[in-house]
Amino acid sequence: MKVSKVVLGPVDTNCYIVLEEQSGLGAVIDPSVYTTELLDAIEASGMTKLQYIILTHGHSDHILGVYDLKKKYPDATVVIGDDDEICLMSAACSLAADLGLEQQPMHADKVVKDGDTFFFGPIEVKAVSTPGHTPGSICYLFDNIMFSGDTLFCRTCGRTDLFRGNLADMHESIQKLGKLAGDFIVYPGHGPSTTLDSERKTNRFMRKIEWSLL
Ligand SMILES: [Zn+2]
Repeated sequence: MKVSKVVLGPVDTNCYIVLEEQSGLGAVIDPSVYTTELLDAIEASGMTKLQYIILTHGHSDHILGVYDLKKKYPDATVVIGDDDEICLMSAACSLAADLGLEQQPMHADKVVKDGDTFFFGPIEVKAVSTPGHTPGSICYLFDNIMFSGDTLFCRTCGRTDLFRGNLADMHESIQKLGKLAGDFIVYPGHGPSTTLDSERKTNRFMRKIEWSLL
C-alpha cells in the first residue's frame, strides 16, 4: 500500500491518498477542500479507480471537498461513522456554519460503526469507533496502518471542547487505541505521522497515569 499526503484547507488538514498496488484501487481520506492540488495528487498516485472517499469524522475541515469529489468520481463510496453522518447534512454539526463556509448537503454511501470491516482490494479495512472529538469519529485500520483523524495526534489528542466533543469519551478512546494488538504507523488528521508504539511510550493521554491528574 502506498500512502501520500497533501495538506489542504485553512487549518492545514492532512488529506491522504492511498493506492493499493495489487488492484490499482485508490482511496482518499478526508478531502478537506476540492482543489487542483488534490486532483493532481489523485492522478499522480497512479490509481486506476477511486474506490473510496473515507471520512474520519464530520468536521468541515475534513469533509468540504467530498461533495465535488463525489461528483467527479460518482462510483466512489463515501464512508463515515454512523454518528457523524449528520455532519454531511448539517453545516451546524460540521462547524462550517461557525466558519461562515458554504456546505452542500449530501448523504454518505456507507456508514460504519465499531468493528465494521470492508474490503479495499485484498486489504480488510477495520473501523474502530473512537468518540470524543466527535461522537462518530472513526479510526480506520488498513493492515498495520491507522488513519486516526482528530482522535490521536503525534504526542497529543484532538480537541474535546468543540460542539459534540466529550473529554471522558476521548479518554476511553485513546486507551482503547493503546490496547490494540501490535504496532501501527499512525497518520493523523493534522501534523506529523507517528507510530502507536511511540505514542504508548510518550503520549500523556495514552499513558494512563496522566489521566488521574486531570
Ligand atoms: Zn475535527
